[in-house]
Amino acid sequence: MLVIGSHVSYGKNQLLGCAKQAIAYGANTFMFYTGAPQNTIRTQVNKYLTIEAYKLMKENNILADKIICHAPYIINLANNIFPDKYEFSMKFLRTEIDRCNLLKVKYLIIHPGSAVKHEKDIALNNIINALNKVLKPEDDITILLETMAGKGTEIGINIEELKIILDGVLLKAKIGFCLDTCHLNDSGINISKIDDYLNKFDSIIGLNKIKCIHINDSKNEIGFKKDRHANIGYGMIGFDNLINIIYHDKLKHIPKILETPHIEEKPPYKYEIEMIKNKKFNPNLMEDIIIEKINNY
Ligand code: FE
Ligand code: FE
Ligand code: ZN
Repeated sequence: MLVIGSHVSYGKNQLLGCAKQAIAYGANTFMFYTGAPQNTIRTQVNKYLTIEAYKLMKENNILADKIICHAPYIINLANNIFPDKYEFSMKFLRTEIDRCNLLKVKYLIIHPGSAVKHEKDIALNNIINALNKVLKPEDDITILLETMAGKGTEIGINIEELKIILDGVLLKAKIGFCLDTCHLNDSGINISKIDDYLNKFDSIIGLNKIKCIHINDSKNEIGFKKDRHANIGYGMIGFDNLINIIYHDKLKHIPKILETPHIEEKPPYKYEIEMIKNKKFNPNLMEDIIIEKINNY
């Protein structure tokens, strides 16, 4: 079964608003941040909105057990040069887990972090120590570490680094991974040879640990370490390579989430999900969105 969705915004209607957007996009899952991705200002979870959200999801065949939360970018578990910032990252991650528990969301994506001035092994150790400090045995959550593009001093840019983190975490059952096609491409992986990557991932970590895949095209060539997402079929990875991953036999049932750029300030997800369902590239994506915008004036 194709499990497809996109980034949706949480806003004042919280999970209920998320579910409504996902339905409008023709999705059967979604990913959200509990506030702005760039900051840590968060509101209290509203129990009634959550109940309404689950009701609406059930009525509209949204796979409630596959919805995903993404922690804000500023959490950095890799760097402890400034102990108060490291401490803050851990505390904030803890509150995100608590919010996920209240929202009954089972997956929380984090970026492993940036080493900044640290050596890699120290940065990896900081991440491991932070996760061991934050995670509790009673948590009903899987933290998904995302594969990164290699921009700046990012950690988690290859399978070996992800494996080191997994090995160091005590509550291993609570750790999973999120692939991101743009990040893979930018870190040097040729998406047209994705089987090579998957075989390697399987032998080092195990494919069963992949719990989410971010589907993005990339504005840059393989190995450029930029992390600039492009719309599906409008980047250097290309439509066919993305379709191949989305429908890959070994990646069935894993939620695929779009994080592609807005067009004319509008989310493109409805059109991109349609392309993916039809397995047919839409060369008029921009035009379609502009027409929709004019019609909604
Ligand atoms: Fe991410
Ligand atoms: Fe991503
Ligand atoms: Zn990215």
